[in-house]
Amino acid sequence: MPAEPLTSPALRAIQAAAAEGRCTNCESPLPCPRPAFCSACGQETRIGSPTVAEFVQQFGGAYFSTEGALWRTLKLLLLQPGELTRQYLAGRRKHHVLPLRLYLSISLVLLIVVQLAGNVSVVKGLDRPDLAAAEKGSVPTAVLEVQGLKMGIRDGVYLCEGLPRLLCQAVRERAATDTRTFLSRLRTANERMVSHFGAVMFVLLPLFAGCLRLVHLRRGMPYTEHLVFALHLHSFWFVVLVLMHLPWQPLVWIGFATMAGYTLLAGRRVYGGKWLQQLLGGTALTLMYMALLGLTVPLAWLLALLA
Ligand SMILES: [Zn+2]
Repeated sequence: MPAEPLTSPALRAIQAAAAEGRCTNCESPLPCPRPAFCSACGQETRIGSPTVAEFVQQFGGAYFSTEGALWRTLKLLLLQPGELTRQYLAGRRKHHVLPLRLYLSISLVLLIVVQLAGNVSVVKGLDRPDLAAAEKGSVPTAVLEVQGLKMGIRDGVYLCEGLPRLLCQAVRERAATDTRTFLSRLRTANERMVSHFGAVMFVLLPLFAGCLRLVHLRRGMPYTEHLVFALHLHSFWFVVLVLMHLPWQPLVWIGFATMAGYTLLAGRRVYGGKWLQQLLGGTALTLMYMALLGLTVPLAWLLALLA
């Protein structure tokens, strides 16, 4: 039997409202028979686990439905790890910015900051002068080496080693039609990978929610509830990643430590359990996520090179 998750005054109020048949969003009393929507705030009165349709709905509509909702949401997200998820799952839906919308807004800010900073270096060494010279056709050889993977041209012949044969063929076919375009693509693949960021996360995030479900299988929560938590966690991580772009070296370590600590605290609030369980679950989750990233990022880079 897993231990009960942590609770908070707001959460108890929401749960009391649900138990007493009041609106879980604004806590107004509801008439009998209960209407489909709360007459005070307009939220639906029947709250189950989030449905996929609810996530789709979050794409549409006004960006921030309630005045001050964004600041209220950010404050809760930043200062009380996991609380936003708990309140959302307990039935307070319209009081805060909806999870997917919050995530999309923050990832947009992160993308802008990353692009302004211009120091994305998934693959290092792409700014080498000989690559630029090869692109102009003035050097016969320019080979890029990344972890046993060789790509470029040697003595005017296309080179591709360390990749599966099919992928190498694809690269070679690209290169054969236009060397210059190929080299320029090779040189700017990092930048163009950033533009694939949204697509990569579109795959990674649901997979991460699946990992959450696996690690916390015993709680028996439906997948969509883990998805809400995954969206909130990524929203927080992205806020930290934005702050890590400030020009102060120690921020990188402080940032990663903050992300790890926050994730443990948030996990404890959402799923409950003992600290040791959280720590073990967190470690398993980190390993799974690293494996996912290890698969997805190189694929995205190759896509950026070929597409
Ligand atoms: Zn209401």
